[in-house]
Amino acid sequence: MNDLVIASGTVVTAAGAYRADIGIRGERVAAVGHGLAGLRTMDADGCYVIPGGVDVHVHLQMAVGGFVSSDTFASGSVAAACGGTTTLVDFVEPAVGQSMLQALALRRGEADPQVAVDYGLHMTLPVWQVDHALDELEQVMEQGVYSFKMYQAYGALCLDDARLYAALRAIRRGGGFPILHSENGPLIDVLRAEAQDQGHVAPVWHARTRPAALEAESIARALEIARLAGSPLYIVHVSCGPALEVLACAQREGRPVFGETCPQYLWLTEDHLGGPHGGRFVCSPPLRSAADQQALWIGLSRGVLGVVSTDHCPFTADEKDSPPAFTRIPGGLPSVEARLSLVFQAVRRGTLALSRWVDCCCSTPARLFGLAGKGELAPGYDADLVVFDPQKEMTISRGALHERVDWSPYDGMTLTGWPRAVYSRGELVAESGRFVSRTGRGRFLAAGLAPGATHLAARAQDWSGRGVEGY
Ligand SMILES: [Zn+2]
Repeated sequence: MNDLVIASGTVVTAAGAYRADIGIRGERVAAVGHGLAGLRTMDADGCYVIPGGVDVHVHLQMAVGGFVSSDTFASGSVAAACGGTTTLVDFVEPAVGQSMLQALALRRGEADPQVAVDYGLHMTLPVWQVDHALDELEQVMEQGVYSFKMYQAYGALCLDDARLYAALRAIRRGGGFPILHSENGPLIDVLRAEAQDQGHVAPVWHARTRPAALEAESIARALEIARLAGSPLYIVHVSCGPALEVLACAQREGRPVFGETCPQYLWLTEDHLGGPHGGRFVCSPPLRSAADQQALWIGLSRGVLGVVSTDHCPFTADEKDSPPAFTRIPGGLPSVEARLSLVFQAVRRGTLALSRWVDCCCSTPARLFGLAGKGELAPGYDADLVVFDPQKEMTISRGALHERVDWSPYDGMTLTGWPRAVYSRGELVAESGRFVSRTGRGRFLAAGLAPGATHLAARAQDWSGRGVEGY
């Protein structure tokens, strides 16, 4: 007998959609079928039943140049749950001179008591750690962290080509998975200094000093370095058409390279930087043109971009509005709560297949990041699932969301489609936009350690031979 049956919904997975009941026993999915019996039943007629969302790129209570992102692990994970995301992956960022293991222990100490849903961590590899601490990688992986974040921009984080190569080699040796923020940081620094010398302080200069071509150039270089290192590579927050072309080219050759984009690049453009609250829209890479946005939607529907994550990194309206120059504005935007619904809007307008929506928001991120038990609806998987009402309207406003920030880039937008009920390991955590569980119940997910897991080989196989025409 099942503890709970989610009855009569349309089950949607990355493979397709069909009507079925889902039987849940304890924390796991026990059965998918028809006429299932349970101690309790939830009627999901008229709704989609999908795996819980997996957002592999969030920055909760993260210190950035004198600011701290305003969502805590508690508030950010509650917001995620209310929007249908039941797995988050955040970051550990070691300071200069700090060991990765120390930094990991501290970050877990912050997150573990607070999280409302399950979460994992990526390890950032700043310059100091690449130069002095790469031999720690295997111990870090033994602690359940196997994805490593690198940057080609930002001071003490910025790896030059030789360091990127060394880090990729070391990650590959340990069986880890490299992810990269790819922009030409050193050259962007020059462009920013030039703009300042000429007295340009307006937010729109944030975009003008980070041209799309330098993102594409940087990704192309990184992919060549990855090829030399015999390494796969995952590019975070791809923002523009030229970058997509570079990725598509490499994928056509069957190389294990993966792209992620975020709601802000799919929904917003650089025009927002010229608006009355332009500073609020500062994020890196910057918002791009409408043509770039169009290219990203196509790339997402065709699979060149495998993942939509949020890069959720909220700052208050005042923190974003006050700085006197674009160079001083903390970068980042919130969207952890609305992600599933924002991407679903493309399903409604017929430009993204229903199964692609689930694939890029749930399944592929779980698979790429070795999050066992997540991202699928099948017996044996964690009973993380969302009963998603495709007709439910949600107008974004302060007060409607649970994100701990006093504005949203989507304020005033009415989205059609929102979770009716959200379950995490069989427990109802959110219902009709209300959080109904408790913080601190979430668990740390040790990634990539399933016995016999050969994630890299599986990933390379998944992607080679997939015909990607144009993007
Ligand atoms: Zn980020």
